Amino acid sequence: MPTKQVCPRCGQDWIHPYRFRADGTTFSLCTECDSLWWLGEAVEVARAKFLDDVVAERLGVEGSPWGGLVWADVIEPIPGHGG
Ligand SMILES: [Zn+2]
Repeated sequence: MPTKQVCPRCGQDWIHPYRFRADGTTFSLCTECDSLWWLGEAVEVARAKFLDDVVAERLGVEGSPWGGLVWADVIEPIPGHGG
């Protein structure tokens, strides 16, 4: 069962359930170091992705991966999952 878990990369924050607004794809995110894990993946340093990289892939914007967007435009925390 999912439990509150400290980010294994930075150890500074819990990882929080998030999702992409566009299609509802869910993932776990450390808001401290921007590490991302897809839901169901083992939350390990070796498997950690970087939020910027994932956003760049999804949005396909060169230069700035966010293309002028901010977090709240692209992703949102999932309510009701603790945290
Ligand atoms: Zn972290």
